[in-house]
Amino acid sequence: MSDIYPNLLKPLDLGFTELKNRVLMGSMHTGLEDRFWNIHKFARYFAERAEGGVGLMVTGGFSPNLVGQLAPLASTMNNRATALLHRHVTGAVHEAGGKICMQILHAGRYGYQPLIVSASATKAPISPFKARALSSKGVESQINDFVNAAKLAKFAGYDGVEVMGSEGYFINQFLCERTNKRADKWGGPYENRMRLPVEIVRRMREAVGPEFIIIYRLSMLDLVEGGQSWDQIVTLGKAIEQAGATIINTGIGWHEARVPTIVTSVPRGGFADVTAKFYGEVDIPVCTTNRINTPEKGEEILAAGKADMVSMARPLLADSEFVRKAEQGRSDEINTCIACNQACLDHAFQAKRASCLVNPRACHETELVLTVAPVVRRVAVVGAGPAGLAAATTAAKRGHKVTLFEADDQIGGQFNYAKRIPGKEEFYETLRYYQRQIELLEIDLKLGTRANADSLKEQGFDDVVIATGVKPRTPKIDGIDHPKVLGYLDVLRHNKPVGETVAVIGAGGIGFDVSEFLTHDFSHHAEGEQVSVSDWQAEWGVNPEFEGPGGLAERQPTPSPRKIYLMQRKTGKVGGGLGKTSGWVHRNSLKHREVEMLRGCRYDRIDDQGLHISLTDKDGKVTETRVLAVDNVIICAGQEPFRELFDYLSDSGMNAHLIGGADVAEELDAKRAIRQGTEVAAKL
Ligand code: FAD
Ligand code: NAP
Ligand code: SF4
Repeated sequence: MSDIYPNLLKPLDLGFTELKNRVLMGSMHTGLEDRFWNIHKFARYFAERAEGGVGLMVTGGFSPNLVGQLAPLASTMNNRATALLHRHVTGAVHEAGGKICMQILHAGRYGYQPLIVSASATKAPISPFKARALSSKGVESQINDFVNAAKLAKFAGYDGVEVMGSEGYFINQFLCERTNKRADKWGGPYENRMRLPVEIVRRMREAVGPEFIIIYRLSMLDLVEGGQSWDQIVTLGKAIEQAGATIINTGIGWHEARVPTIVTSVPRGGFADVTAKFYGEVDIPVCTTNRINTPEKGEEILAAGKADMVSMARPLLADSEFVRKAEQGRSDEINTCIACNQACLDHAFQAKRASCLVNPRACHETELVLTVAPVVRRVAVVGAGPAGLAAATTAAKRGHKVTLFEADDQIGGQFNYAKRIPGKEEFYETLRYYQRQIELLEIDLKLGTRANADSLKEQGFDDVVIATGVKPRTPKIDGIDHPKVLGYLDVLRHNKPVGETVAVIGAGGIGFDVSEFLTHDFSHHAEGEQVSVSDWQAEWGVNPEFEGPGGLAERQPTPSPRKIYLMQRKTGKVGGGLGKTSGWVHRNSLKHREVEMLRGCRYDRIDDQGLHISLTDKDGKVTETRVLAVDNVIICAGQEPFRELFDYLSDSGMNAHLIGGADVAEELDAKRAIRQGTEVAAKL
């Protein structure tokens, strides 16, 4: 047993089988499930994580039938031919010494397809289609399909299944009055509404026999109006245990809930106390989840007796060797999930294959292969932002001799400003990870060194990777040189004083982040520290006792020390370009702090009075002119590439490669910077 994480790494005896530790890799839809021709990629993805030592894994959701599909042609388990194909996955996992369950997910009214069914004829705010109400016979047929999917999973070689009973999907829709308006034995009082999951688990257990894991994902906190009460949740949990479940996993929040549940601004372990409250109500193992991304956090939760297991989904996408590194006392080498959602959930919601911002190999294990370099080359990487860090560490991993030049006195590039934003403290972890890799891989790091073409040429490198990043764009506005004008670097890098009334020009990711920074009261929690769980619950309206329908409470005001105007020229939604699954959180958070968002802005001039603007409609017609009497105007109007070095080197015949913002600044983010750095170095 491990001395370092004795609770996390302790085996778990399930009676008929044993899990080697308490880490469950939670279900994530990767997009690889949906197409049979990706089965070998799917198998390799899980096999790498099994090799990394995780105790139990759960696949992305498979629908038990066509009406339950998330989208047309999405992952389904309803015939033996499909099940046979899955033996590639289960075989690869078992060969690597792992265990894997298949998740059965019936989307109900969350399906993005016209055949959807639910308890009643309702439409979810997150699907354009209205669900058809099932007849009593139709309900029976859904139960049969759930049972059939579990039998097929067993035939495919899975160690068990997870029944998805939370997140607002089909089963959850039967449990709550807001979506279940039935008057038959499947609707009305709670004992009728909970009949569906109990019957599914009971009949499934009968069909699969005793030696097959059945995890039930119990919605312990619905976070929507008309959600379940705490007593109802406990009653259901006990009935699910009686019906034959092996493990109860925690589900938090419907997808349509307006409380964030996993984005980076949710404090670590922010929902562990929900599981803790349930823990002890049943005798079977209980698993907790959401925003647990380090072995330390997992250990702390288990040591405090809040659960028997911890589910970590995205952290295993970010680092397939998470558990192995923890076992070997190398947790400082873990590539930590920063909960950005940019390459995982955002991709899943756009029907693109998932990956990971900090680990572009995720879900591309068979394609982005890092081989040992056939010939060792002397490689210079210029710029230690995300792109340069990815390139330098990838090249060194492959055996090349790498020198990394950085003009600043620290690594990280723009990530050093991102990590200062309240709610983005996780970005520190990426820099800690790279710093450790630089030491381990013996990269020659030259901080405070601005590389120039002559010195690079003199040192005779075989390859030079230019990752010099971007410089902020200065828009042409009358009065742009006025002393009240600041750039975002003046605020986030040079700590220049900012007044009480501020206009932010540009409502992209950085404009939003700067506004978040300026509306924060740092007397509550120090910069760099995550907000406390109780303050976060108060801000977002989560009942600290998780009582009441859905566990909701009145949101407490979060006063801002400043009045902020956040502006863009486009007439569309302000912040429309932010991430699919996180943009609404940023918008909601700033609205809660009474930030005034203005669109269709024309910036006429800046003078002692403030910022003069004209507001235009979508045809460009001026509808109003305003003078914003602000103390400061902060420019967050995008960036331009910083690439003179590359142009010079390639002209002089050197083997130069251009990556990250230095390559293309348009729509640059760290996801692209890290992927491009990794891909370039994978080919050197
Ligand atoms: P940079 O990060 O700009 O790094 C370039 C580096 O090169 C710098 O360290 C610079 O000092 C160095 N350099 C330049 N010239 C030389 C030279 N001649 N010699 C030596 N060194 C040199 N992206 C996301 O994906 N998600 C986010 O949530 C996010 N939030 C952000 C929040 C803020 C406040 C900011 C400012 C940015 C954010 N970004 C985010 C953007 C992200 O940080 C950038 O896309 C990313 O840093 C670009 O990486 P890069 O390596 O190309 O360039
Ligand atoms: P951005 O997202 O491209 O936004 C630039 C903003 O400036 C836009 O609102 C744009 O809107 C405005 N603008 C552009 N040219 C202008 C001009 N000449 N005059 C006035 N306004 C102008 O860039 P960013 O905010 O600098 O962010 C850089 C990158 O970092 C982005 O690609 C982003 O993905 C990433 N990032 C991501 C996050 C995140 O949370 N995921 C956070 C921060 C940064 P109008 O043209 O409508 O005015
Ligand atoms: Fe975590 Fe972001 Fe990677 Fe998703 S993309 S696994 S949230 S680091």
